[in-house]
Formats: sequence, C-alpha cells, structure tokens
Amino acid sequence: MKVRSLFLSWTRSCGSVCVISAHHRNTYGWDTLPHVMQERSPFSALGLGPLLVRAVEGLGYETPTPIQREAIPPILVGRDVIGTAQTGSGKTAAFVLPILHRLLSQTPGRTRALVLSPTRELAAQIEVALRGLAKGTRIRGHAVYGGVGMAAQEHALRSGVDVVVATPGRLLDHMSRRNVDFRGLQVLVLDEADRMLDMGFLPDVQRIVGALPRDRQTLLFSATMPPEIEALSRTIMRNPVRISVSPPHRPPPTIRHEAYPVPQHLKTALLVRLLGREDMMSVLVFVRTKRRADRVARQVGAAGFDVARIQSQRETALAGFRSGRHQILVATDVAARGIDVEGISHVINYDVPAVPTDYVHRVGRTARMEATGEAITFVTPDDEGDLRGIERALGKSIPRVTLPDFDYLAPPPPKVRGHEGTRRERDTRSGGGPSRWRPRPGRR
Ligand code: AMP
Repeated sequence: MKVRSLFLSWTRSCGSVCVISAHHRNTYGWDTLPHVMQERSPFSALGLGPLLVRAVEGLGYETPTPIQREAIPPILVGRDVIGTAQTGSGKTAAFVLPILHRLLSQTPGRTRALVLSPTRELAAQIEVALRGLAKGTRIRGHAVYGGVGMAAQEHALRSGVDVVVATPGRLLDHMSRRNVDFRGLQVLVLDEADRMLDMGFLPDVQRIVGALPRDRQTLLFSATMPPEIEALSRTIMRNPVRISVSPPHRPPPTIRHEAYPVPQHLKTALLVRLLGREDMMSVLVFVRTKRRADRVARQVGAAGFDVARIQSQRETALAGFRSGRHQILVATDVAARGIDVEGISHVINYDVPAVPTDYVHRVGRTARMEATGEAITFVTPDDEGDLRGIERALGKSIPRVTLPDFDYLAPPPPKVRGHEGTRRERDTRSGGGPSRWRPRPGRR
C-alpha cells in the first residue's frame, strides 16, 4: 500500500540554554518570523529574570507565544496594557510573569496584585498557573471565589497574600468585611473582561476598582472589545499600550477529531497500525523534536512504509512531496514553516501540542478546500491536561478511541545499547518511559 507521510519536527530539544525561537512562529501564521538560533532563553530576552526563566523552562515552555512576546516587555516597564487575546493564547503567563518579575524585587507581606476573573473555574486555573510560574520564588497567590467557604480565603487575604485572584462578587463580600487590604496594591488585571460584561459584573468591577489605589498599573485582557469595555478602559487605565493577537482560526468543521489514548512506549506501534489503514493515503505526522522525527521516520520506514524527510534540501524535498515523487516526507521544524500541501488526508499528532493554537494550525493542514480530513492525536496520561485545553479552545470534546485488537498491555521493548530504535529518549513532559496507565479497551 502506498502511504504518503510527512513528519514534522515542530520544536527542537537542545537542553536548557540553546533554544530555537522562531519556529514558534507564530502560532497564528507560520511564515512571518525569521529563523534564528538563540544562545539564551527567549524569555530572558523579553526581560524576565533567571528564576522565572527557570520556571517557564520547568513547565516545558520553549518560546513565548505571540501575546507573551508582545505584552511582557511593556508590562515590565510599567505600562498599562490592553490585550485582545483568547484563552489558549498563553495570555495568563503574559500577565503573571511580569507581575512576578516586579514582585520579586520587593519585600513580601502585602497584597500587591489583584486579578479579577469572571468565573471561579478561570480563577482556579489562574491560581494553578501562578503557582507553576512562581515555583522557586516566595511569591504566593490565592484564589477567592464563591461557592466555597470564606474561612481559608479570609485567612489568606488577612495574611497579605501577594497576588489575589478573585471573582468580583466574592471579592466584594470580603471587602465589605474588611478582610482585604489593597492599600499596597500595584497591579490590577481584568481577565476576560468581555465575559465579565456578559455576566453583568461591570458594576461590581467598577466598585472594586474605585476602592483601589489610583496609582497602579492596569492590565486588561479580552477576547473581543465591545464599546462598554472600551469605555471602561478609558476610565480606569492610563495611556494603555494596545496589543492584538488575532484569534486562531477554528479548524474547518469538516475535520473529524479523534484522540487515541496510548502509553508512551506504544506510540510508534500504534502509528504503524494506523498507517496501514486503507484510507491513510497522505499523512502528516507531527512530533515534538527533531530527534523523535528521525527515530519515528526510521521505525515507520523499517515497517515497510515509504518515508522521505527534509533537512537541508528542504525545497527540493518539498517539491518532490508535492509532486508525489516522495510518498513520505520527514521535515524539521524549519521545514514545517510555510508548508502548504494539498490533499493531506490525515494529520497525526504523535505528540500533543502544548498550546491549543498549535493544534489548530497542525490539523488545519488536512481538510483544505472544503475537503474532509481526520485529525488523530496520541494521548498519554500526562497529556490529558493539554488535551483538555485543546478541547476548550475547540469548544467541543474530542472522542477517545481505542483499537480493540491493539495490545495496549505490550511491554516496552528491551533496552539494547547502541541500537537507536530501542533507546528511550528524554521526554520532559511525559517522562518518556512506559506508563502504568492502561486504556479501557473495546470502545471501538
Ligand atoms: P492560556 O491562554 O493562558 O489559558 O494558556 C493556554 C495553555 O498554553 C496553558 O496550558 C499554558 O500552560 C500553555 N502555555 C502558555 N504559554 C506557553 C508557552 N510559551 N509555551 C508552551 N505552552 C504555553
């Protein structure tokens, strides 16, 4: 059977200092950024201190997303910022990182930043993100929202927790009980301001803002900018810098999305099994690192499929792939930029993309021109959180699929020194090794 596969390495793992920045290309369009190698982290190039750079590296972020690239520098110099950006764009870190940077140079003990969020779910998510980004620092945050007891929140507020993340209604309750002291407040963030408007929170927000010190930095993020939010921004902000990151296009509705839960060590076996399906005529496989691209291409080639790959001869190889001369193509992240090949029937995410917008761009390679296409994503247990983020961005859940005749209990291959096919590579997000998790069989 003839199978055309294109393997794309979308990022390069080269340890903690050498980072390829430009591949991150623009989560919103693949071609506009120059490709440069940087010796130091692109996060430190934005002006963030080493503790925070270490924290983002610990989270597996390699390059800033567009909103982070644009928002962090002006926030660091103290400007007010209005950012038009969606959930999934990395906007939480875009405001949390510079806030942490500011607070790190100060003595703790007072509440100095307040993040207002429309829902308790978002407040809880921001608290979790803050905890991850503040790892290794003494800065603490606490989420304050309704539906749960007041006592723990009151305790945190009264102890002067550094960053308060709050929904407006519950925060007003605490303010009316004098549980919180905002006299030392320096930064206010209004997150998802348009949803606050939709939920009727603007009067509450105005009351809260009215009780804060006037001399502060104000950051406002919103997916859209209705006139009411514009008007609010004029009354509560000072000469704000405007940043707009165009929303990711939703993938064409003709794409069928499926997630295949699989232990890390069985991904290649599952890929080989899927590639053998009759309908997989033109397949684009995304993997996380160049090394994985090399290994996966080699293993799939050894299984009898026709694989070519792009390295230095990018254009020649691409032309060959477009013309059908190459049935299978392996590409590095550099080559991934600008690739536009018609007729790709399947996109397989061998590795889950960390940022939902990357998912949208990857799967958008199939189902071009109104054609139907299928997007398959391999999911290890550690990837479930990232997949949920993708589902939120898509606005729908992705069905989980297991193959009834695939041996999900197969052990990892034995380690053989010097034989690359069986050497397990470092995978910082999934641990790389075999997983104890087993899928429930028989769902398809
Ligand atoms: P947000 O838009 O803030 O909800 O972020 C969406 C997801 O992107 C979260 O899971 C973040 O952990 C992740 N994320 C944020 N910034 C980056 C980055 N620079 N690189 C990779 N993932 C990121």
